Amino acid sequence: KALRVGITGGIGSGKSAVTERLQSRGIEVVDADIVAREVVEAGSSALEKIAQHFGKEVISADGNLDRAALRRIVFSDPDQRLWLERLTHPLIGESIAQQLATAASSYAVLSSPLLLESSQRDFVDHIVVVDVPESVQISRTKARDNNSEELVRAIMAAQMSRDSRLAAADTVIDNSGALAELDQQVTALHEKLLRLSAAR
Ligand code: ATP
Repeated sequence: KALRVGITGGIGSGKSAVTERLQSRGIEVVDADIVAREVVEAGSSALEKIAQHFGKEVISADGNLDRAALRRIVFSDPDQRLWLERLTHPLIGESIAQQLATAASSYAVLSSPLLLESSQRDFVDHIVVVDVPESVQISRTKARDNNSEELVRAIMAAQMSRDSRLAAADTVIDNSGALAELDQQVTALHEKLLRLSAAR
């Protein structure tokens, strides 16, 4: 079985910038955000259960989950949030584990903003943290999403602190420099992960 590598980092740290570069080297990447959307896609049994539980107002006209409506309900009600997580988390975990186990590349990557905050960390053998100072997280996220600094700070406050993230890392990628510097680090990371997977 392929070495499983988890990649995480705070909002705007550059997870996608790293995984895109690994994908272009033929490495299979599972994106936890995409899996989380897939398990509740239109027509899924999970979405049907959500509609039965929360009512039709969380389903939009096109049959998809109305995420904003659902978020409004669960963020003001911890019990409802727990209900939703008990439904979706096992499905997300099952899909991630299955995709990692069947990956055909020399190693497989799980990219997840909540890797360290959830049981997703048990799915991986090696943890890579993409790290930038908070000021860089803010400026890059604002530039990308056109969000206010206030919103970016609120999201950062809900995420794990930079220090605890770094403490959990097996490998740290410092993405505070230019993209050319990131390229060099990703090349070194790829070589390291190939070595680790060959040594298994
Ligand atoms: P999120 O958790 O919000 O999805 P992320 O960790 O995947 O974010 P990216 O989307 O990869 O972060 O990067 C955030 C933004 O910063 C993007 O617009 C990206 O193009 C840009 N960026 C990433 N790395 C660098 C860099 N070294 N120099 C300049 N811009 C960068």
